[in-house]
Amino acid sequence: MQFPAEPFRIKVVEPLKITSREEREKLIKEAGYNIFMIPADSIYIDLLTDSGTSAMSDNQWAGLMLGDESYAGSKNYYHFEETVRHIFGFKNVIPTHQGRVAENLLFSNILKEGDVVPNNIHFDTTRANVEYHKAQAIDCVIDEGMDPQNLHPFKGNMDIDKLEAAIQKYGKDRVPIILLTVTNNSGGGQPVSMQNIREVSAVAKKHGIPFFFDACRFAENCYFIKEREDGYQDKTILEIAQEMFSYADGCTMSAKKDGLVNIGGFLAMNDDQWAQRITNMLILIEGFKTYGGLAGRDLEAIARGLKEVLDENYLRFRINQTRFLGEMLDKEGVPIVKPVGGHAVYVDARRFLPHIPPEQFPGQALVVELFVRAGIRSVEIGSLMMAKKDPQTGKMIPPKLELVRLAIPRRVYTNMHMQYVAEAIIEIYREREKLKGFTIEYEADFLRHFTARLKPIA
Ligand SMILES: *Cc1c(COP(=O)(O)O)cnc(C)c1O
Repeated sequence: MQFPAEPFRIKVVEPLKITSREEREKLIKEAGYNIFMIPADSIYIDLLTDSGTSAMSDNQWAGLMLGDESYAGSKNYYHFEETVRHIFGFKNVIPTHQGRVAENLLFSNILKEGDVVPNNIHFDTTRANVEYHKAQAIDCVIDEGMDPQNLHPFKGNMDIDKLEAAIQKYGKDRVPIILLTVTNNSGGGQPVSMQNIREVSAVAKKHGIPFFFDACRFAENCYFIKEREDGYQDKTILEIAQEMFSYADGCTMSAKKDGLVNIGGFLAMNDDQWAQRITNMLILIEGFKTYGGLAGRDLEAIARGLKEVLDENYLRFRINQTRFLGEMLDKEGVPIVKPVGGHAVYVDARRFLPHIPPEQFPGQALVVELFVRAGIRSVEIGSLMMAKKDPQTGKMIPPKLELVRLAIPRRVYTNMHMQYVAEAIIEIYREREKLKGFTIEYEADFLRHFTARLKPIA
């Protein structure tokens, strides 16, 4: 079979509004051609992000009714703690309301000015939290991970030589932690192999540096290991996860990804002293240690979601649904980043629209067209989001790639929805010469893509 059918059936439906092309043209114009400014209920298929957009199961919804909202010692906290300990194996479990708070708490505790934090590729919030503490976030992914056409099976791997070189260059006292992001979100949701995890762990141990995972998509990473790495075919996802985490000292987690919930996160670690200090901070900024900014019912939904995400039938569907969308596009010649990662398909807008220069935002041209034509929301990850300014000339320095990300929410859309998305993009591809670029009318000083107003070039 080309792709597995959905391993769930529909019990509750959320009707989607179908708008006309004229309505969408008006909406996007009013939004300043910025997809972030479109009201979500005017979108037919929303592929803006896979974060916090999962559909919960009947089992999770049932769990919400068992929420124990006691200020201290909620029974849902104990269920959550026991579940995290079982899968991740770390002794101390600290709930937070989302992943970036886990990062902030961790870094507040361990980073000082001038420190350096290596990672395969830092996710935006991780980098921002490192830099906020006046430390330097450095990316050590293998070169293959930066090449959109390289078919390496584990493009999220850390380059061990780059890691060692960084530790040599700055000295191990300035490297208070080594991070590894699974799957590597900013590198296209590409997996890290168990072999590489072992090697990173060995480097960390050799230098006496703590090693933490950014574990947001840990289950998706485990599925890729099972599928692609020798020796793991007969292991369960739980066994693979337990082995993976056994090599580390802790992790940060956004449960909005592989926790299969709409809000939540945590920090887990073996070190008691760190956990004590962080818990004291938690009480100051998030809440008491048995709820950490969440309701008891949320903790119950996370506990149940973390068990469900280990289901191999679910993961096979999840990974193959993403791959299926990529393959439909690839077959028709649409340029995409390959191999397809776990949670999203990335269209290469520079090759899709070679007649639109980076200064005119080819990715945004595709994002806008996809909305106007088909009611689909995607997101530009290119010059609009990532370009830097030359401090001397003020001229834009475009990033290496102009991408459009189609992130797939978990258990939300059917394969037929994916086919609709593919057909829309293929149609646009056939008429791609007609697309025009954009100029910026208004931009903020930082994170401009969220609020920028654009104008089509006539
Ligand atoms: C989403 C994400 C985070 C941050 O989590 P939030 O819940 O959005 O705060 C950190 N790292 C990675 C890799 C992520 O994908």
